[in-house]
Amino acid sequence: MLELRPNCELCDVDLPAQSPEARICSYECTYCADCADNDLKNVCPTCGGNLCPRPVRPNEAYRGGLSLGLKNHSASTTRRHTRWSREEIESMVLRLKDIPPAQR
Ligand SMILES: [Zn+2]
Ligand SMILES: [Zn+2]
Repeated sequence: MLELRPNCELCDVDLPAQSPEARICSYECTYCADCADNDLKNVCPTCGGNLCPRPVRPNEAYRGGLSLGLKNHSASTTRRHTRWSREEIESMVLRLKDIPPAQR
């Protein structure tokens, strides 16, 4: 199950579960759209993968017998912060931003 992290790991802006601004990599590293586009240029500074809009988990469980939805699987409240310095992020971005994600 996808961990819905509560904040951008770079600028710390809030990214609630319903936010259309949340971007994630395949490891669920989470950033806001502004950081993903302008600072990271679609490069996760941790794994080097691309960043995609995070799916919005519905509130309700719509299928009987399946305990789905935010009411059953709530968003994480543990705020995360990138471990990398601005310089380390910049060098990762420069190295990978012009390589298509499928070829990284
Ligand atoms: Zn951000
Ligand atoms: Zn990543």
